Amino acid sequence: MISEIQSYPSSKAVDVLVIGGGGAGLAAAIEAAVHGAQVLLIEKGPALGGSTGWSVGSFTASQTKYQMRRGIADSSDAHGEDLVEMNGCVRPESEPELRSFLVANSPATLDWLQNLGVEFVGPFEEPPHRVARMHNVIPGSNAYVQRLELEARRLGVEILCNTSALSLLCHDVSVCGANLFCEGRDFRLKAGAVILTTGDLSANPNALGQALKNIGPGLASVNRLATGDGHKIAMQVGAAISQDIIAKPTIRFVPTSSSPILRRMPTFPFLTKLMRLGFELLPMSVIRPLLLRFLGSVLQPHPAIFETGAILINRDGELFCDSPTKLATELTHQPEGLGYIIFDEKVTQHFSKWPHYLSTAPGLGYIYISDLCHYRPDVCRTADTIRGLASEIGIEPEKLDEAIGAHNQKQKLRGYGQILVPPFVALGPVRSFLVLTDGGLKVDPQMRVKKTGGGIISGLFAAGAVGQGDLLLQGHGHHLAWAFTSGREAGAQAADYALSKSDF
Ligand SMILES: Cc1cc2nc3c(=O)[nH]c(=O)nc-3n(C[C@H](O)[C@H](O)[C@H](O)COP(=O)(O)OP(=O)(O)OC[C@H]3O[C@@H](n4cnc5c(N)ncnc54)[C@H](O)[C@@H]3O)c2cc1C
Repeated sequence: MISEIQSYPSSKAVDVLVIGGGGAGLAAAIEAAVHGAQVLLIEKGPALGGSTGWSVGSFTASQTKYQMRRGIADSSDAHGEDLVEMNGCVRPESEPELRSFLVANSPATLDWLQNLGVEFVGPFEEPPHRVARMHNVIPGSNAYVQRLELEARRLGVEILCNTSALSLLCHDVSVCGANLFCEGRDFRLKAGAVILTTGDLSANPNALGQALKNIGPGLASVNRLATGDGHKIAMQVGAAISQDIIAKPTIRFVPTSSSPILRRMPTFPFLTKLMRLGFELLPMSVIRPLLLRFLGSVLQPHPAIFETGAILINRDGELFCDSPTKLATELTHQPEGLGYIIFDEKVTQHFSKWPHYLSTAPGLGYIYISDLCHYRPDVCRTADTIRGLASEIGIEPEKLDEAIGAHNQKQKLRGYGQILVPPFVALGPVRSFLVLTDGGLKVDPQMRVKKTGGGIISGLFAAGAVGQGDLLLQGHGHHLAWAFTSGREAGAQAADYALSKSDF
């Protein structure tokens, strides 16, 4: 890769420059190439993937072949209505045009991914969706990255990793390229059109000056390259941006130091097709144990667990907050930002079958507490006494005993939620992660970036998280659906725009 970069000319022109090599960027590069453009995709990390490669991999869509095979009747209108309901009172009616675009086009994107060799299982239910719509990629989200990279290379897309975009080049009122940086060298790259697909702000949520409130030093991000570069460089050329970046920390298991096996598994279509057939034909009792062995660990325990009797303690065995809605924020102020979720057998039983799941999981849809305890003993410890549990997780037994005693006393007065019935369970360590942020550059349904004060910025397109405007995508699977669907559209539009110009 380094030699590839060193031999790259210090100034060059391409039809379409795609900045950011996650799901949206790869989809954009492929579609731009299919539309006849010469495409360069740059990625600032050492490899393609971004948050897309870290994700669980759920993709939510209606009217899919997977739904039809299961006899599920659905429509994009119904999907749009359910998405509004999922967004709830946060931002229910924002960006109706983009929402309609998403629900109308995500089924075709799912087909497109499948034609490129990406396989799914499901669909799975997720209320308040009225029917099952969540499709989970197999064996994991690396399938998106591997299959799309292969297709992009097959179509002649040039890919440069370890290369960052620093700013955009403008001529008159149009964007016509970018200043790039790689291995100590600057490039001035001219392009007929530029597509920003640089992801979100989760590694730098304060980048735009809209500070996160009450967050302590313990907040972590999953994708450290998600620093909002595209947001910033587009704003420098007058792009309009959402005035309300939503950044909500969630409690997740701390990833193991080595990448989970699923991220390294081969994704050859014959293998994933076989896996899908296995899912469809074999009993779940055979399939689940197989996939559970490969569980990665950036999983999110469902927040409802804290409303059903579980508590969160810090690394020193202390209770620090009894409001379920504030736990993720308060955890960022605790020593090393680390905690454990503690509960008893009543909670284990409650989260043992649908609809009370512990977490979504790659390939499986949902997992339950018993799955985790069986297959991930590194993040799930059990004991018959509280003191025994404390020893299992390296906390002073007296301290945990004292904390649980105080908790039980309080709950006794309330009449529910005591931790009394063995075996007792500790899940963790967990910490607060900012997995994603919602809010990006304002775009129209052709993914053209809008200007502050009205109109569009010629030559500039945005897709995926950076091109999300005020569109809110609550629930599982809408962010990836948006990344790939908007990426494809941006690629097609940017190619048409670039190829219609003769003078760049
Ligand atoms: C742990 C986790 C689980 C998730 N699970 C799901 C899920 O199951 N379903 C779902 O729908 N969503 C999920 N999400 C959210 C989803 O993954 C993202 O919203 C989506 O992948 C965003 O895609 P993207 O292409 O816009 O950005 P990314 O995939 O993040 O790609 C952006 C790329 O741009 C690169 N880049 C940034 N700045 C520059 C620059 N200046 N120059 C060059 N390159 C640059 C980055 O390095 C990165 O590779 C999850 C996210 C995480 C972190």
